[in-house]
Amino acid sequence: MITLNKKETEYIDLAYQEALLGLKEGGIPVGAVLVVGNKVLAKGRNKRIQEHSMIKHAETDCLENTHRKVSAKDLQHATLYTTLSPCTLCAGAILLNKIPRVIIGENKTFEQSEQWLKQNQIEVIVINHPDYIAMMLSFIKKNLKLWGEDIGLTEQQTLNQYQHLFQ
Ligand SMILES: [Zn+2]
Repeated sequence: MITLNKKETEYIDLAYQEALLGLKEGGIPVGAVLVVGNKVLAKGRNKRIQEHSMIKHAETDCLENTHRKVSAKDLQHATLYTTLSPCTLCAGAILLNKIPRVIIGENKTFEQSEQWLKQNQIEVIVINHPDYIAMMLSFIKKNLKLWGEDIGLTEQQTLNQYQHLFQ
């Protein structure tokens, strides 16, 4: 497991707290935090279920929660912390806003865009925290249909894709 420094550990833990909050709300447990320097600009969590949204993933919710009160300059110096490896929708938002650095809690249960981010000179750091992996696996196992919806799969396709991880 890659070790982050003290501040970075605090920020990824904030993202994890968002994920746990989402879980408590009956949502999909993914959280994100946007940081510039030592300042947390915004926090977010997947609100697909809570707000019946097709596009409120943790990362996009986090960006939404800046309420546009963030300059392009800040975005270009920001780090986005997310508990789960970003999907292509969220990676697109990262690229569009020129966020240069992404710290990812885990990519064992989902990984779709890291090559794309790296090809665009975005620094990608993955820690694969065992607690985050366990949280997602437990959620996916109990909520195949909900998780499938989040990543564009049917319940059966989700089962086929994840079955090997459940053993
Ligand atoms: Zn996403």
